[in-house]
Amino acid sequence: MTNVVRPIRTRFAPSPTGFVHIGSMRTVLFEWLLARQSGGQFILRVEDTDQNRYVEGAEDQLKASLQMMDFQWDEGPDVGGPFAPYRQSERLQLYAPIIAEMEERGILYRCFCSRERLDAVNAEKQARKQAPGYDRHCRGLDRAEAQRRAAAGEPHVYRLALRLTGEVVTHDALRGPIVFQNETFSDPVMIKGDGFPTYHFAAPVDDHLMEITHVLRGEEWIATSPYHVTLYELMGWEQPVWVHLPQVLGSDGKKLSKRHGATGVNEFIEQGYLVDALTNCLALVGWGYDETTEIMTRQELIERFSIAHISPNGGSFSHDKLNWFNGQYIRKLTPAALGELLLPYLQATNLLATPASDAERSRLAEFVPLIQERLVTLGEAPELLRFFFQAPTAYGPELLPKKYTAAATKHLLEEAHTALSNDQDWTEPAIEATLRGLAEEIGAKPGDLFMAIRVAATGSKASPPLFHTLHTLGKAPTLERLACAASTLHAPDEAAH
Ligand code: GLU
Repeated sequence: MTNVVRPIRTRFAPSPTGFVHIGSMRTVLFEWLLARQSGGQFILRVEDTDQNRYVEGAEDQLKASLQMMDFQWDEGPDVGGPFAPYRQSERLQLYAPIIAEMEERGILYRCFCSRERLDAVNAEKQARKQAPGYDRHCRGLDRAEAQRRAAAGEPHVYRLALRLTGEVVTHDALRGPIVFQNETFSDPVMIKGDGFPTYHFAAPVDDHLMEITHVLRGEEWIATSPYHVTLYELMGWEQPVWVHLPQVLGSDGKKLSKRHGATGVNEFIEQGYLVDALTNCLALVGWGYDETTEIMTRQELIERFSIAHISPNGGSFSHDKLNWFNGQYIRKLTPAALGELLLPYLQATNLLATPASDAERSRLAEFVPLIQERLVTLGEAPELLRFFFQAPTAYGPELLPKKYTAAATKHLLEEAHTALSNDQDWTEPAIEATLRGLAEEIGAKPGDLFMAIRVAATGSKASPPLFHTLHTLGKAPTLERLACAASTLHAPDEAAH
């Protein structure tokens, strides 16, 4: 987007409940892009005022999720900033004068109703087939009287005095004006009995204090957005741009959930999806640059992103599409760079030592081109490359070429061993010429011969291209594996006699 008029300040304001899932990470991405594009700031604010929802270690997990994706926040926990602190539980003393002002101006009022009374009110409303909700019993209390009762230690909450009639309008950047009737709401609790604010107080107050210009969040918050809009209006604050993002759906059109497999970004990263591929894929969930462009670098996304092109209808996240993106990004890497990325996966499966020696690294660099063309995730590499590091131990009877007995296969392998031993020049074309010549000479189908050799050399019927594989494996190890496979192949046939 061009002609950005002022630096945009966005915030990601999660309740710390753990790793960030794909849906929220898409919100983060859009917030981060807007901030970067406009030379503004992306802020991380931890909304941890619900003491009942405290999850040990959750803040670290959410920060780790953002860091994995390389979405560094400009202000927030750890890095600080001009509006610190960025953890709401540490901001209570900042809220105190605002609560006092709001009470003074009649925007908030104290409510002393007990749980029992509220339940009774709801039960009565239900019996009359009315929607549940607070009956504003305490709204008319004299302020001085309410303060006196509070000072005497009577438990209470603060509620927002919404307008009783008329309309409240959320001007949503994607949907235009969304009109709500005030009479359908009841006054929400803003400060709880324990003195902690609710989300409906802390989020808009902090958005205002932190000078957030664009509030991006999931569309599930549309329903309660009138509380925030009203609060801004009553306080005379300038409203941010409201952007309620459509839900991220699975490719089946249903809400993304565990049923769809991995949903936490950490899981995707652990499986070996590249950050750039995940970023690119996520950017296209509900947003598009034009009808056709798919591959975009982070820089291109920063330059091209615009709120105007976000669809208000749900965007879908497809695993297949992510696989495709990942493949594209893997192919773009140099083999050396891909090798570096594969290293931890090979170390985790003990195929390489930690730390890897220079010799191991350069050996790895030789293997990488064999799989780069078909690798979908980095996590697949150990299985695809295992045979380079570990020789197969036996030629399983289930791997015999079709219509071949163990004895006949053993014969193929012995012939191949002899032919390849004489190969002076261990290049791919030489290996290929030798093996094709041999197939013709002994009257075997090339496919059968190649399959037997592939299984002997790699332990599997599927491997990277055979001649390239044998060349990379090296002559001595190849011959050794052919001999070893041949020697394990007579047993079943002999047993049959
Ligand atoms: N704390 C809210 C959440 O957990 C933030 C919603 C918002 O962005 O306003 O999703």
